Amino acid sequence: MGDLSSALPGYAIEAMREAFPAFGRKIRGFDTHDAVLTGVETRTSSPVRMSRGDDLQSLNVRGLYPAGEGASYAGGILSAGVDGIKVAEALARSVLHDAEPLRAAAA
Ligand SMILES: Cc1cc2nc3c(=O)[nH]c(=O)nc-3n(C[C@H](O)[C@H](O)[C@H](O)COP(=O)(O)OP(=O)(O)OC[C@H]3O[C@@H](n4cnc5c(N)ncnc54)[C@H](O)[C@@H]3O)c2cc1C
Repeated sequence: MGDLSSALPGYAIEAMREAFPAFGRKIRGFDTHDAVLTGVETRTSSPVRMSRGDDLQSLNVRGLYPAGEGASYAGGILSAGVDGIKVAEALARSVLHDAEPLRAAAA
């Protein structure tokens, strides 16, 4: 437990000071003096990014395609979905490219 005004920027504290009484007028008891603020979201995706190259494969583990939130390429449902599509397309391109010499040899 601590004083949030020493941990957050002034504009955030100012916004909360303005918002809590407003909520308190809509939801009775929301802004009582013994209310406890239990968490503050600071960022929506992983702070550690798994680097990937132009082909979207991991730079140091070939064949691994880091994607989505855990690899730090998305911060929500939509961006995770879009990144998943991009990675699936890159994987498909890689499989087709690898199969090309086999197809040529068989022809
Ligand atoms: C409480 C909460 C509320 C949220 N609300 C919103 C919202 O309103 N709007 C919004 O846009 N985003 C929201 N998000 C964020 C959003 O849910 C994520 O950004 C998104 O789901 C990330 O998708 P993802 O596919 O990258 O990862 P995930 O959805 O986490 O998928 C990862 C998958 O990998 C599986 N997995 C993990 N380890 C292994 C393993 N070793 N082997 C096999 N499988 C494994 C997991 O079981 C999981 O199915 C919210 C997140 C939380 C936690």
